[in-house]
Formats: sequence, C-alpha cells, structure tokens
Amino acid sequence: MRVLVLGAGYAGLTLARRLEDRLPPDVDLVVVDESGEHLVQHEVHRVIRRPGITDAITARLEDVLDRASVREARVVDLDRDSRTVSLVDAAADSDDAVTDTVSYDYAAVCLGATTAFYGLPGVREHATPLKSVSDALTIRERFLDVCASGGTAVVGGAGLSGVQVAGELVALAEEEAAENVDVVVLEQLKSVAPSFPPAFQTAVRESLEEAGVDVRTGVTVERATADAVETDAGTVPADQLVWTGGITGGPAMDDQRPVVRGDLRLDDHTFVLGDAAKTVDADGEAVPASASAAIRMSKPVAANIARLVEYDRTGSEDGFRPRLEPYRFSVPGWIVSVGDDAVAQVGPKVVRGAAARAMKATVGAGHLTTVGAVRKAVDLVEAELGNGRRGAAD
Ligand SMILES: Cc1cc2nc3c(=O)[nH]c(=O)nc-3n(C[C@H](O)[C@H](O)[C@H](O)COP(=O)(O)OP(=O)(O)OC[C@H]3O[C@@H](n4cnc5c(N)ncnc54)[C@H](O)[C@@H]3O)c2cc1C
Repeated sequence: MRVLVLGAGYAGLTLARRLEDRLPPDVDLVVVDESGEHLVQHEVHRVIRRPGITDAITARLEDVLDRASVREARVVDLDRDSRTVSLVDAAADSDDAVTDTVSYDYAAVCLGATTAFYGLPGVREHATPLKSVSDALTIRERFLDVCASGGTAVVGGAGLSGVQVAGELVALAEEEAAENVDVVVLEQLKSVAPSFPPAFQTAVRESLEEAGVDVRTGVTVERATADAVETDAGTVPADQLVWTGGITGGPAMDDQRPVVRGDLRLDDHTFVLGDAAKTVDADGEAVPASASAAIRMSKPVAANIARLVEYDRTGSEDGFRPRLEPYRFSVPGWIVSVGDDAVAQVGPKVVRGAAARAMKATVGAGHLTTVGAVRKAVDLVEAELGNGRRGAAD
C-alpha cells in the first residue's frame, strides 16, 4: 500500500511528518518535491534585503523527514481514475519527458500555487513574481539598479506577499541611501491585505505609508510595458515591476485550484491541501491562502488518511467506512513584516513595532522547530531580530 504526498511546503511537510508517526511501518510513504527542500516561503521576501537569510529558511527534506522516502522530481500529471502520478526529472526543461509513473492508494496534493498573470498584456514578460529564493534574488538585483539610477519600483498586488515585498524594497532603498526612488503598490481591491480583518488592513496600510510606500488601492493593472504599468487610473512609470497579483494552480492540476470542502477531498483517494485548492471549511467559511491555514490542514488529513488505510487493511467492526474528521479554519492571528516594522493581529488586538516583530520571528522559528529544523530556527530568530543580522545578511 502506498501513500503519496505531492509537494513539501507547509502543507506537505507537516502532513508527511504526521503520517510518519501515524501510518503502519509497512505502508510505503513517498514525498515528491521538485526542489528537494522545504522553503519557509512566508519569509522569502526577506531575501530581497538579506540574501544571507536563505540558509536559515531552507531545509533539505532528507534532514527533516525520517522514514518517508523522498523523490526529487516534478509532478506533471495526476490521473485520479488510474490513481497514478507522472513524474519528470526535476531539472528537465520539458514536462513531456515523463521518467516515472507512480501509483497510489491515497494521495495528498500539496503542490502550492503558481503566480497568476490573468493574461494581462506584458505583465508576465516584464514582471518578476515572488515564489522562490531565485525570484527574490532577481528582484534584489533589479532594485539595486533602480537604487543606483533613481526610479520607480511598482508592486502589483497587496496581499501578504505584495505588502511584505514593498516593505523590504523601501527599507533596502534606505539602507542604500538611494535618492529619488519610489515604491508604489497597486491593488485592485479597496484595501491592502484584502482577505484579512479590517483593523489589520488599516494598520498594514499605515505602516506602509509611514515607511514611504505610495499605496494606491482600487486601481486595476491593465497592461505592462518595459517602462510603465498602465492602469484604469492612468499610467504609472515603472523601472521595475514585481507581480504578486494572484495565484493559480500549476500544470499538474491543469492550471486550476479545485474547490475542496470540509474533508479536503477531491475524491475517495485524493486530498488537496494548502494553496493548491480553494478551500471552503466545514462551516462554509472561505479559507485564505496562507501558510497558517496550510499547516493546520495537515492535522485532520493525516488522521483521515491513517483511518482510511487502517479500514482498507482491517475493515471496521460495524462494516461502515470511517467517519472523516472535518477541517475548520482557525488561526491565532495574522502577522506581516513591513521592512523593519511588523503588524500583528492577535484576537481583536492589532500591534505594531518591536512586539509584532518578535512575534513574526517566533512564527517562522516555531514552524522550523516543529518540522525538526531547530538549528535553522535559531539562525532565523537571530537574523530577524538583528542579533548578528549583518552576518546573516551579507
Ligand atoms: C513573499 C510571501 C510572503 C508570505 N507571507 C505570508 C505570511 O506572512 N503568512 C502566511 O500565512 N502566509 C504567507 N504567505 C503565503 C504562504 O507562503 C503560502 O500560503 C504557503 O506557502 C502555502 O503553503 P503550501 O504548502 O500550500 O504550498 P508551498 O509552501 O508553496 O509548497 C509547495 C511545495 O510543492 C513543491 N512543488 C510545487 N509544484 C511542484 C511540482 N509540480 N512537482 C513537485 N513539487 C512541486 C514546491 O517545491 C514546494 O515545496 C506568503 C507568501 C509569499 C510568496
């Protein structure tokens, strides 16, 4: 019997570690990830200003998994009828050269999402997305050029990633003592951090504006050229464009994020967790795409896969298939960094400054500790809170 975990981000790695504890030892547990490492993606914007933090926010999967076997490969197709996935070599240029087809009894799709460009003319061509360390380094290089010559960097989209990128860019401009550099955030909806509570949105906007970011909400990007972003409110000159305007599914999911509900299943044998799906929880609440939610989804899914595996092997006393645990969205709060500031919402209370910044460092470090990367957790706290930050940075 085989259980496949596809993708080892927040959802996949936490799920795989839970399954290592819960599945009988003779069940083949395989984790497939194209990078072979876990990225603490909610800190990847920090790499723009502090490339040296990369080591603290990445962990080799072999180092944080125990009995699961790791396949470093790209999932290019999921065939739910035959219960197989097609893999290509992680380094392959084309998705056509399938090297292996792996069957499964249960699969958990935790492949995250890719950046959505919505077919906006010129945006894919002229913008840099932010999903990986390599994207962050590209953004850094381009922004240092803007700092050297003066100009405008535009960030399209003010979700969790856009807000935090803008915060890093203004802070980097200040560290470079750059003159005549503007950072503009364009957001189609009426507020920044649109999926989050109103008090949090207000505090995030204040923090961005105090840092010197030009925040424009209710503005829709229509196209991009080499030196400008055209919007429904006029043309914004842009020497650099970072695009964090939305997410969609990757090729293995036919470029879709399917909708899953309470038990996070697409069918009797296939679960989808994290950003890979649009999730509506057991109470009918839409779940924001976030690391916090992805991590918490792994708990009921691990319990449910373990129950189904046991049922398939031994049946049940009453002859019924096991009842599955529902997923209910609940997080303690939200935290974003804005350069050296941070904004945290804990319950109804919103805090900024040193307290929020300490919480932000603790969240990333807490996650690394939970997944077994304790040394990395210490490095991340040191880098985030400034102890030896230059060491981590330069
Ligand atoms: C800059 C930035 C800042 C953010 N800040 C926050 C924040 O402050 N708080 C918060 O809650 N969320 C934040 N987020 C959102 C958060 O990072 C995502 O919601 C989260 O990563 C989703 O987790 P996941 O496990 O679904 O996917 P991911 O973490 O994206 O993991 C997907 C995994 O699948 C692998 N993979 C992808 N495709 C394939 C394939 N075809 N084959 C094999 N492997 C594949 C990848 O290598 C990766 O390891 C931020 C995101 C960004 C980009």
